[in-house]
Amino acid sequence: MKLVHKIAEAREVIKDAKKGGKTIGLVPTMGALHQGHLTLVANSSSECDFTAVSIFVNPTQFGPNEDFDKYPRTLGEDARKCEEAGVDLIFAPSASEMYDEGFDAWVEIGGVTEVFEGKTRPGHFKGVATVCTKLFNIIQPDKAYFGVKDYQQLKVIQKMVKDLNMPLEIRPVDIVREADGLAMSSRNKYLSREERRKALVLSKSLRLAKEAYDNGERNPDVLQKLVYATISAEKDIEIDYASIVDAEKLTSIKTIDASVVILLAVKEGTTRLIDNIVLK
Ligand code: AMP
Repeated sequence: MKLVHKIAEAREVIKDAKKGGKTIGLVPTMGALHQGHLTLVANSSSECDFTAVSIFVNPTQFGPNEDFDKYPRTLGEDARKCEEAGVDLIFAPSASEMYDEGFDAWVEIGGVTEVFEGKTRPGHFKGVATVCTKLFNIIQPDKAYFGVKDYQQLKVIQKMVKDLNMPLEIRPVDIVREADGLAMSSRNKYLSREERRKALVLSKSLRLAKEAYDNGERNPDVLQKLVYATISAEKDIEIDYASIVDAEKLTSIKTIDASVVILLAVKEGTTRLIDNIVLK
C-alpha cells in the first residue's frame, strides 16, 4: 500500500495502475475510519482491481460554527486499517495541497441540495461537490463508493455525475450499524456513554416506521408522526428534521406510491447525528 500526500504523487501511482489495465475504485472519506468506511473499501476491492481511499477533512464543507477543528484525525490508525483491508493507495492531502492560494472554482448543484442538510448547513454541498469533483479528477476512478448513511450527499453526487457527464459510476453502499442499531459514524466518538444510549432512539424510530410500513401503513403523515413521537420521548434530543420524502427528488409526498426515504437529523448536546431508512 502507498500513502501519498501530494496530488502529483497520487497521479503517478494511478497512471501506473491504469497502464497495467487495472480498474480503479475510489472511496472518499474524512478519516477516523470505522467498519462503515471499511465496508465501502470491501465493495471497491471486490469490484475493482485497485482501490484508492482518500482521507481529507475538507474545510470547504464545514460551516464557521461546525466541528472542523475538533473533527477526529487519526491517520496512523486509518493507514493500519487500510493496509489490513488491502487498500492500494491512500491519498491524504493537506488543505493547502487541495486549495491552493487563489483557489476559486466551485461546483454547485441545485434542487436536491436546497433542502435538509443544505438548509441547515449553507454551503455544505458546494464544498462536498467541489471536493468530490477534484478527487474524481485526481484519481480518475471507474467507480466511486458512497454510503447510504449520508443519503442526501449520495443523491447530490449521483445528480452531479449524471448532469455533468462525469465518466465514472457511483456505487451506493448500505448503512453499516453497530449491533444495537446505532449507525456508525466518526462523530459517534463525541458522544458520552449516556448520549450514546439516548442516540439509539434514532434507529429505533426508523425501525418502528419500517415495521408500520411493512404492516401496510401507507400514510406518510402517520409514519412521520411515529418517528417524531419516538424521538421526542427521549429527553435532550433536539430534532432538526424528521421527514418522509420521495427517495430520488427528496420532495414532500402526500401518498406513498414510489420509493420514499425517512431522513433524520438531530442534535444531541453539541453533536449532530443523521440517519435514514428507505422504504420501497
Ligand atoms: P465520512 O468520512 O463521514 O465523510 O464518510 C465517508 C464515506 O463513508 C461516505 O460515503 C459515507 O456515507 C460513508 N459512511 C460513513 N458512515 C457509514 C456507515 N455507517 N455505513 C455506510 N457508509 C458510511
